[in-house]
Amino acid sequence: MKILLIGSGGREHALAWKIAQSQLVSRLICAPGNPGMAEVADCLEVADPIAFAREEGIDLVVVGPEQPLAESLADRLEAAGIPCFGPVKAGAMLESSKAFTKEICEAAGAPTARYGHYADAGEAKAALSGYTAPYVIKADGLAAGKGVVIARSLTEAEAAVDELMAVSGSLVIEEFMDGYEVSLFAVTDGESVQRLGLASDYKRAFDGDEGPNTGGMGAISPPRNFTAEQEAEAYRTIIEPCLAELRRRGITYRGVLYAGLMVTNEGSKLVEFNCRFGDPECQLIMRRLRSDIVPSLWGAATGRLAGVGADWKDEAGVLITMAAKGYPGSYEKGSAIGGVKDAAALEDVVVFHAGTKRDGDRLLANGGRVLSVTALGTDLEEARTKVYEAAGRIEWPEGFYRRDIGA
Ligand code: ATP
Repeated sequence: MKILLIGSGGREHALAWKIAQSQLVSRLICAPGNPGMAEVADCLEVADPIAFAREEGIDLVVVGPEQPLAESLADRLEAAGIPCFGPVKAGAMLESSKAFTKEICEAAGAPTARYGHYADAGEAKAALSGYTAPYVIKADGLAAGKGVVIARSLTEAEAAVDELMAVSGSLVIEEFMDGYEVSLFAVTDGESVQRLGLASDYKRAFDGDEGPNTGGMGAISPPRNFTAEQEAEAYRTIIEPCLAELRRRGITYRGVLYAGLMVTNEGSKLVEFNCRFGDPECQLIMRRLRSDIVPSLWGAATGRLAGVGADWKDEAGVLITMAAKGYPGSYEKGSAIGGVKDAAALEDVVVFHAGTKRDGDRLLANGGRVLSVTALGTDLEEARTKVYEAAGRIEWPEGFYRRDIGA
């Protein structure tokens, strides 16, 4: 089977690493890929994935990030008869529109925070009186992680309404949910559902959950304090009914449905859906999955997921993100990184690339989040020890990472 994987981040390197291990795959092409992916696949600039897939006889396209899905890549592949792992635009709206997700949850009876959807700043401000602090205000469109404000006071909330209304033209106000967060990954062909694991990520830039929000500075898998019963309940109350509601609306969702859950005293509630794997959580899911990922990707893309199983390693995983100093604000590109091979030589350690580039023999930083260092161990404690030993072997004075992941 020939697979085209779209993307260039740590998530996509982990997918490429796992796909490349499959006996079912004769060729893996990554577009555009990164230096890590180039070690396991062919990396190419592909201007038109549909034309490319036709010319190269691609059997399956796997889409890593959300943006191409929100821009109808899966719809165009479907029209061309090319199987795609990743939902059509109408399904990707679960990520690209907060209001749509809320509407689906409401129709499906899935537990989530009470909310209102407003296209007028005055109305939104008036509605704040129906909530108590902290106020949760969300822009309705994709905002690259910058579309949510949790305001401690009414004044702050009113300012957030103006700011977010300017970003997307409409917004959602919702009740604050108190609890801890778990990321759940469900692979589906629209009908059948495969449970593809759980993780928790660390969003803040600095130790002790201080500093600004980022794309993710670390992750653990499995999450702490989340039982098999809680997982089953989340599938029963959130995943299954929401997929049924999509089907009722004529939307066949093929790909991964990533549910961000808030585990509260009243059970798990949905914070958000994403239409792709989490980055960095995906890296740990791929590391912990013992069985081949390709039957899941292929089954979901072609409506033949029923009966496809997943076999997991017993080990726990810890991931740390190495980021350029200054991230998530402004940072320099082009500093040299050494020691990645030494780090990766440690047992149970894999280093995934995100924002890197090659310059001859040298590896250079080329983004905000630059490397994902992962380790497996018999428990989180052991994995954590290994991951920090590995990070210690990486020489990159211009980078930083959190010291408290998995602690
Ligand atoms: P992401 O970058 O994770 O995709 P996003 O911009 O799509 O984020 P959300 O996931 O909806 O936005 O919210 C971001 C974060 O804000 C959540 O991970 C959670 O920590 C917090 N949050 C969002 N909604 C609520 C809520 N109702 N109650 C408490 N915390 C919330």
